[in-house]
Amino acid sequence: MEAIGKLREDIQKELEDVEFIIGWEQGFDALHATPLFIRSQEDIDRLIWNPLCVHNLASYLPQLKGRKVGVLLKGCDSRSVIQLLQEGLIQREEIVIFGISCPGVVDLSKIRARMNVSQVKRVSFAEGNVTIETPQGREEFPLDEVLATKCLSCQYPTPLIYDHLAGEALSPQRPADLLYKEVEEIEKLDVKERLAHWERELNRCIRCYACRNACPLCVCQDYCAADSRNPHWLSQRAGIGEKVMWHIMHALHVAGRCTDCGECERACPMDIPIQRIRKKINKEIKALFDYEAGVNTEDTPPLYTFQMEESTIREKDW
Ligand code: SF4
Ligand code: SF4
Ligand code: SF4
Repeated sequence: MEAIGKLREDIQKELEDVEFIIGWEQGFDALHATPLFIRSQEDIDRLIWNPLCVHNLASYLPQLKGRKVGVLLKGCDSRSVIQLLQEGLIQREEIVIFGISCPGVVDLSKIRARMNVSQVKRVSFAEGNVTIETPQGREEFPLDEVLATKCLSCQYPTPLIYDHLAGEALSPQRPADLLYKEVEEIEKLDVKERLAHWERELNRCIRCYACRNACPLCVCQDYCAADSRNPHWLSQRAGIGEKVMWHIMHALHVAGRCTDCGECERACPMDIPIQRIRKKINKEIKALFDYEAGVNTEDTPPLYTFQMEESTIREKDW
């Protein structure tokens, strides 16, 4: 059975026992999917599953704590749920997880860079290609060329936690050594060049906080330090100092917690590659604590603990 058929069947079975189930439906045009809150059979009929289903729906869960809901999760999204469970920000018994084996999702900015997508009529996926029809004609290109960067090094195409699984479990088919490729390119620069690189990138930031709002692990919400007036950590000025300060603040608040889902970067209207900053910290956390966020519900995140002697840090050798 196709994954979408299995999903619909499983959702139907669980619908009575939950308030709603979060999935995706067709968005305002053929190129966009949007989150769907399923409460009825008619809603189930609107459900879609294809490489346009980019959103990490786990982002909704912390604010729904205390209510029983269902959620559809790709492999990368399932890591957010594991991390949220580890931190006690959600309760396992309150969530029904519909896992989906995932071959990858598109990066719409890569499609926009190739063609005018202002009036898309139809999008189809077949044999590793994507075909996009507009009033001007039809373009077909390999899906790999427009996949989200995270998918090109995906190590968890099958969700790590689920109650129901749609699609055949997939083994990782992407090379793990690509995981930190972009980080390593920046690491090759000397300190001055690195600073110039980030000042150039971050100068485009308009501090809209879409990156924060899309992040499943950014849970302070209305109490975010970026919005606080007492103490007033961040001024209203739009200088590079405030922009850099905001990004350091955000990156450090998800240090050891970031599950690499890429939502921060996907949501950014200024196409700033901020996931690289998180990836750099993830790389350091892996080296220091041998820890990868969101892969094991039994783990305790390293920054949630304190030990006089960390087994992986040999301070006396410094
Ligand atoms: S990173 Fe993996 S699980 Fe996530 S969207 Fe890409 S291929 Fe799917
Ligand atoms: S989404 Fe982009 S522009 Fe908005 S605050 Fe984040 S980095 Fe800045
Ligand atoms: S910081 Fe970005 S990549 Fe990390 S969990 Fe949040 S949205 Fe996902």
